[in-house]
Amino acid sequence: MDKQYDVIILGAGPAGMTAAIYGSRAGLSCAMIEMAAPGGKMVKTYEIQNWPGIKEISGADLAYQMFEHSTQWGAEYLYGDVTEIRDGEIKQVICRDGTVYQGKTVIIATGTRERLLNIPNEQKLTGRGVSYCAVCDGSFFKDQPVTVIGGGNSALEESLYLTQFASKVTVVIRRDVFRAEPVIQKAMEDNPKIEVIRSHVPVEIVEKDGKVGGIVLKNVNDGTLTTLTTSAVFPYIGADPCTEFARALPILDERGYVIVNDKMETACRGIYGAGDVTVKNLRQVVTAANDGAIAAQQAFHQLKG
Ligand code: NAP
Repeated sequence: MDKQYDVIILGAGPAGMTAAIYGSRAGLSCAMIEMAAPGGKMVKTYEIQNWPGIKEISGADLAYQMFEHSTQWGAEYLYGDVTEIRDGEIKQVICRDGTVYQGKTVIIATGTRERLLNIPNEQKLTGRGVSYCAVCDGSFFKDQPVTVIGGGNSALEESLYLTQFASKVTVVIRRDVFRAEPVIQKAMEDNPKIEVIRSHVPVEIVEKDGKVGGIVLKNVNDGTLTTLTTSAVFPYIGADPCTEFARALPILDERGYVIVNDKMETACRGIYGAGDVTVKNLRQVVTAANDGAIAAQQAFHQLKG
């Protein structure tokens, strides 16, 4: 056991990596603990057009650049699947493999994970036509019809991305209006390859030859069922916070998001939240970075007075 850090950062998305930049540049010993590739959702995003100073960059490129930057002043990047945080003067961060890290402060920046449709054949056909990452899997469906479920920013942005490959992209929304920003809706409306089905929800994915062959949709107004032929289903129906490890702490709201004040402090002294995992209105790369900077700066003030 167990190296002790000034700041342990859980998650290496834009919030966590920015916290690592600010913390390590201020002279604090920092470690990011991450269970996947650095970058969080950026890695799965085709294009980012609202990171100030860069008009257009692929999510993977921005993630890579942030990662290089975040380790420049000595912040460590560690693999770990965190299962528990024990609060105290020195916090203990416990990983699934039994590793325990000790930190004077902890910044929770673990983001969110995609919601499942929870309908028949979804799990069975994941990787065989059901995908939660258009950037990763879209090119498998060249000249084939694909279906996107959801009407938020993610669903519409990924639908636009999929039009490069697919013969047709059908977007299914459960209301008759979108949740996405108007600028993204406009881009979608202008794209002749995208068709929208409103007021329908998916009820079953149809298997054909061991792969996705269609999807059964229910009209929410009259209950009628329609089967749509499709080679792929991309659910983009929102996300839930990754905070199972913090359930014993009095820092989560009823949905599991981390409650923070404007200094990114939680109800536990020395434990901060940053990025999509916190209770907030605008979940963006730029707001995640903002949170990470504030959390690390606050940790610095706590530790150095
Ligand atoms: P979201 O904004 O919560 O949208 C989820 C969509 O899925 C909504 O259209 C919702 O319908 C629908 N939905 C939810 N549950 C469903 C179900 N069981 N069956 C069918 N449809 C269902 O999620 P998101 O698009 O993943 O975005 C998450 C956050 O990241 C948002 O704050 C978003 O603004 C942000 N984001 C921003 C950008 C950007 O700025 N470029 C890009 C991606 C994400 P209802 O509308 O009827 O609830």
